[in-house]
Amino acid sequence: MRKRLNDKQWFAPNGIWAAVFSWMLVAPVGAVAQDVDGWSGEDSAMVARIHAHTLGEGRCYEDLRVLCKDVGARLSGSQAADDAILWGAKVLEGIGAGTVRMQPVVVPHWERGGNERAWMRVDGGPQEPLRISALGGSVGTEGVMEGDVVVFRDFEALDSLGSDGLEGRIAFFNRPMDPLMINAGSAYGGAYEQRSRGAVEAAEHGGMAALVRSLTHALDTFPHTGGMRYDDAVGKVPAAAVSTVDARRISRLIADGHEVRVGMEMDCVLHGEKTQANVIAEWTGSEHPDRYIVVGGHLDSWDIGEGAHDDGAGIVQSIEVMRTLHALGYQPRHTLRVVLFINEENGNNGGKTYAQRAREKGEWHVAAVESDAGGDAPRGFSIDATDSATAAVRAWKEDFMDYGVGDMRRGGAGVDIGPLKQEEPAGKRPLMVGLRPNSQRYFDYHHSDRDIFENVHERELKLGAAALTSMVYLLDRLDYDSID
Ligand SMILES: [Zn+2]
Repeated sequence: MRKRLNDKQWFAPNGIWAAVFSWMLVAPVGAVAQDVDGWSGEDSAMVARIHAHTLGEGRCYEDLRVLCKDVGARLSGSQAADDAILWGAKVLEGIGAGTVRMQPVVVPHWERGGNERAWMRVDGGPQEPLRISALGGSVGTEGVMEGDVVVFRDFEALDSLGSDGLEGRIAFFNRPMDPLMINAGSAYGGAYEQRSRGAVEAAEHGGMAALVRSLTHALDTFPHTGGMRYDDAVGKVPAAAVSTVDARRISRLIADGHEVRVGMEMDCVLHGEKTQANVIAEWTGSEHPDRYIVVGGHLDSWDIGEGAHDDGAGIVQSIEVMRTLHALGYQPRHTLRVVLFINEENGNNGGKTYAQRAREKGEWHVAAVESDAGGDAPRGFSIDATDSATAAVRAWKEDFMDYGVGDMRRGGAGVDIGPLKQEEPAGKRPLMVGLRPNSQRYFDYHHSDRDIFENVHERELKLGAAALTSMVYLLDRLDYDSID
């Protein structure tokens, strides 16, 4: 079957953001237009079998239940993360398709601690409880602190205050995710810096703490946590998220001329480092045992909720890839690795360590695939590859449309596999692909108490697993010697 791609504009990752959340942002580049092949009859039949098997007999939803309910939240460094590593190794061994090993990874061990409470006072009135969630990596408050709140939409507004303009006060970063952006991941990317850099910006202007509006379109009462970082040249002040409902209330009160003070007590502590592991299941290829295709997600999660969408879904879908291909009697041509990465959320040391070892051993990763955008219904894939490799994958667009996953555009593929590109392992640049589910509800759950098993839909999760498996199968069928 021959098809001609038209010369529509496609998309490439935006360099500014690519390092941290490259999958979320897309920016236009030149067109790709060339003759390309769709699926062969054999491939069409295999993709149909993959979908039938996954939807009929797939076990990823049950795996997710066990991971969420028996292991639960599993922040790097925690006992639960150790439990998750053992669970993942056991499940992968149970498939019987290859060998399973642990790859040691040094991770930070940060804990929220016992006390996490806050309150607000309006115009000097009584304390009203305020729900907060410390941002991951935040220092504690060392007792109780209280200060006047000043609202900002961006860091530029803060700059006008000068170096001590926030003395004894709390900076509150309240810019919502842009509701006019169609892709919720892009809207997240546009608001993300408030969380990641808010504490540094507050401290640079003499502030005592940073509060951040939760990164979600949902108007809810759940604070959504997430990673943040400090700058060694600037003092460290505590940082916490407040819910969008509370953010709206506080900002409206201040806009109406009221004085709002917030008090906080947080016992967060960074214990230093701990050695945990990536879990790697390896199934040796029949034709190219020294060429690797990796598929994975991240095993760690934040310490609230159950890490169901982020990224329990990607973990169980990646496991399902190997289970399904094995059950269907498929023998991969390239060596297939399922990697359950550790520490994506607060360091990405799992992804970095994996890529470093790959480079040291001179391994050629022909392709790398990640599922880390939630367990909602799959819509397509984002592709991070050379022009010719991108064209080879986009040639499958129309065939994938029959399965509802024909949205194929250039963009970042995943944080965990990202360092494989930066580390430049042996051979050519890996063809990198990310599963792209519907993004609209993902941030309703993301990094909050709502990211639980009950909020993942069985059929949507399985459709994602089938799409992921199909992509890995098709990537295994490509001839990488003929792709630039
Ligand atoms: Zn994630």
